[in-house]
Amino acid sequence: MIPAQFDYVAPTTVAEALTALAEAGDEGKVLAGGQSLLPILRMRLNSPEKVIDLGRIAELREISEDGDSIVIGAMATHDAVLRDQSVAQHAALLTRTLAEVADPQVRHRGTVGGALVHADPAGDLGAAALALDASFVIAGQGGATRAVPASEFFVDLFESAVGDDELLTQIRVPKHTGWGAHYEKFVRVVHQWAIVAVAATVRVEGGTIAEARVGLTNMGSTPLRATAVEQALVGKPATDDAVREAAAAAAEGTNPPSDLNGDADYRKHLATVLTRRAVLAAAGGAA
Ligand SMILES: Cc1cc2nc3c(=O)[nH]c(=O)nc-3n(C[C@H](O)[C@H](O)[C@H](O)COP(=O)(O)OP(=O)(O)OC[C@H]3O[C@@H](n4cnc5c(N)ncnc54)[C@H](O)[C@@H]3O)c2cc1C
Repeated sequence: MIPAQFDYVAPTTVAEALTALAEAGDEGKVLAGGQSLLPILRMRLNSPEKVIDLGRIAELREISEDGDSIVIGAMATHDAVLRDQSVAQHAALLTRTLAEVADPQVRHRGTVGGALVHADPAGDLGAAALALDASFVIAGQGGATRAVPASEFFVDLFESAVGDDELLTQIRVPKHTGWGAHYEKFVRVVHQWAIVAVAATVRVEGGTIAEARVGLTNMGSTPLRATAVEQALVGKPATDDAVREAAAAAAEGTNPPSDLNGDADYRKHLATVLTRRAVLAAAGGAA
């Protein structure tokens, strides 16, 4: 199908984009990589009067280091972040997760910011952002900027903390240098959305798990942290038996969907299996 007619603007600064958003009011929609928005427009599930393309705002594509953080511009593509050496060195979980997002074509067009604002619970990046305690920088009207922790960013199904007249500008990821990382994604067909997936990153000291972070994909209306597993892992040896025991708590507090790919109980079982695999693989890769 062809989208309904809309006006198109392509500002070159964040300030111009915010002004265009304010002028459009309820009728404005931001375009990033278009991998989720364009199908929505084509199916006429949304018919904005004005589309504001962020593609010409160079500063939003930058990836840099700032002290203890990696700073990722919202418009950096999946592919650019996947290939970035500082991300691989200091936030390996993100690299591992991005390698599992869709296919090369989508990764070249789709942006990390767009995927996170879209807040699809089956999207891969939310669990990694949660596990890494990322912080989201949001620009609002009148030059206001706020930082929202990952724990508050994902509000509900397809709803993030970014308001209609705001822009996500940066994702700040605390460095996890030397931590092992793995993203275990369960799909029936390669390149599909996760039925369930687990993002795990651990710090191992002398064969013992000193710190652990575990995020869950598609186990509720938002990405979730498996805090019971994280707590159970600390101080345990990175062995199959110990990790299996801790991973048994992976579905605690979750509310996964039931659909043609599997019912909620199946997903809860999957979460324990995938958590064990993800943590063991992460521990195996820790410095
Ligand atoms: C065939 C296919 C397979 C896919 N498979 C996967 C997969 O396996 N795993 C996965 O995680 N994802 C998958 N995706 C989605 C992909 O990751 C998209 O890139 C992502 O969902 C949207 O990113 P985008 O840059 O294309 O955003 P867009 O589609 O342009 O925008 C998405 C939404 O975010 C808003 N938005 C975008 N950027 C900003 C911003 N900076 N500030 C405020 N609002 C903003 C838009 O207004 C829109 O509402 C797939 C997509 C396709 C087409």
